[in-house]
Amino acid sequence: MDEQKKNKSIKCDVAQCRHNLVSEHYCTLDCISVGTHEEDPTVPECTDCNSFVVRSSCCG
Ligand code: SF4
Repeated sequence: MDEQKKNKSIKCDVAQCRHNLVSEHYCTLDCISVGTHEEDPTVPECTDCNSFVVRSSCCG
């Protein structure tokens, strides 16, 4: 498996994502896609990282 390099521009604490460098709390992608599941987002909780991919080792 390739060694993951952190993207210093994208901090992230989502350890369940396969793109997360958990030890340093950074994303390893060059670019991510962020979206929303709300019609009129007003708080951070309304937004989503659409580049999230669950770790295969996480849940069987
Ligand atoms: S893809 Fe999104 S959720 Fe996954 S580590 Fe990067 S920023 Fe975090």
